[in-house]
Amino acid sequence: MSRTPESDLAAGLNEIERTANLDPTDWDAFRQAAHQMLDDTIDHIANVRQKPVWQPMPSQIRARFAHPLPQDPRALDDVLSDIRDNIFPYATGNLHPLFMGWVHGAGTPVGMVAEMVAAGLNMNCGGRDHVGIEVEKQITRWMSEALGYPEAASGLFVTGSSMANFLAVIIARTEALGENVRRDGLGAVDRQLVAYTSAQAHICIAQAMELSGIGSANLRSIAVDDAGRMNMDALRAAIAEDRARGLQPFLVVGTAGTVNTGAVDPLAEIAGIAEAEKVWFHVDGAIGALGMLAPTLRELFSGIERSASVALDFHKWGHVPYDAGFLLVRDSAAHKRAFAQPAAYLQRSERGLAAGDTWPCDLGPDLSRGFRALKTWMTIETLGAERMGNAIAHTCEIARYLAASLKRDQRFEIKAPVALNIVCFGIRGANDHVIRELVLDLHESGLAVPSWTTVDGELAVRCAIVNHRTTKADIDGFVKVLTERLG
Ligand SMILES: *Cc1c(COP(=O)(O)O)cnc(C)c1O
Repeated sequence: MSRTPESDLAAGLNEIERTANLDPTDWDAFRQAAHQMLDDTIDHIANVRQKPVWQPMPSQIRARFAHPLPQDPRALDDVLSDIRDNIFPYATGNLHPLFMGWVHGAGTPVGMVAEMVAAGLNMNCGGRDHVGIEVEKQITRWMSEALGYPEAASGLFVTGSSMANFLAVIIARTEALGENVRRDGLGAVDRQLVAYTSAQAHICIAQAMELSGIGSANLRSIAVDDAGRMNMDALRAAIAEDRARGLQPFLVVGTAGTVNTGAVDPLAEIAGIAEAEKVWFHVDGAIGALGMLAPTLRELFSGIERSASVALDFHKWGHVPYDAGFLLVRDSAAHKRAFAQPAAYLQRSERGLAAGDTWPCDLGPDLSRGFRALKTWMTIETLGAERMGNAIAHTCEIARYLAASLKRDQRFEIKAPVALNIVCFGIRGANDHVIRELVLDLHESGLAVPSWTTVDGELAVRCAIVNHRTTKADIDGFVKVLTERLG
């Protein structure tokens, strides 16, 4: 037989196909290794209490992750043992009941299984007509129900509340200036937009103003009361002053659970002011919005149902594995006006996989995106909203218990009211340096991980009780460790 260009191509393909397919050659061996890894991960979660909360990474572990790009394959078993030895022991620590630093969710075993399934299905949830889109819509409906929003509200998974808050600023801006601002930019308008948030708001609100091009100098930082809540008289005065100067107030951001102390702004009063002033009312509910699942906490967030949009994090109090931020928008048309694009390759059809009216890519800047909705759906579906709400309420009780325990010892002083689940305390006679060293020593001891923050200009130890695993006994142990360290 003579060689032809076609026969050469076929022979070449036969050669390449031996390795182009990236599936395992031995599925049984793969299955066994994967099952073992699943067991090891379950063991890691189940036994987390027996391990240090966190431990420093030795230099040889860091060096392990500074290797050159590997050209050759390596046995899966070998790679998995690398994970057991070099990754498991040096994780963040937020699964542990005495991890109280910043605001980290603890995850759940069920959420982990969902992540595995989501990766297996590997859906692209940017759009098109498949079940991933329906699951995301289910979460939108559930959140509308939980927060008292209309059924027609729209929702979108994003990485976290930093992103959700940013998208809310973009929507509010587009509604204030009209859709043309998308094409013409801010330079084409002769009005200066101004936004308002409290002095205790998360820094990502200022960053969102920067990213939007409006600028953080046009975000007014409104004073707070003794409980860390936005002062309504100061808000009204700031809006009036800006209007008198010919500026255009367009957005008020209220916080449901400040990152420093857990304070909740008077959301109903902000709603009233926003309605009267005809400005967009957005709630940064990164920490607090899911508190709406707890009947004992719901009253605190009264007024959230009157907002125009809410940012929230399932990966914090909801314990959905990272990352699972979410944006809920009352007016789905406004949401779409800010982001939908007319690209030819995104054209919709009446039937087939290209069907569907609104796709997630119409509601935010991401096109390709993963199936974050599944881990959220599976967590809520398996545990139920009531149990999740109880776990959230329990962390607030544990926080009050910690504050009460500290109050019994003259050496400690509570620095801010415990509104939700965050306790900030100082040590009498200790300066900032001593507090910092104490916190870092605790980290390195592996016994507990609090963080610190500044309250009224002074450094305070900050314990955010987010973890559903944290018990009264854990807190007793923590207070004992603290008092022992003070000598
Ligand atoms: C955590 C937090 C954010 C940022 O959310 P990410 O999910 O970390 O992006 C914003 N606001 C508040 C109040 C937060 O606690």
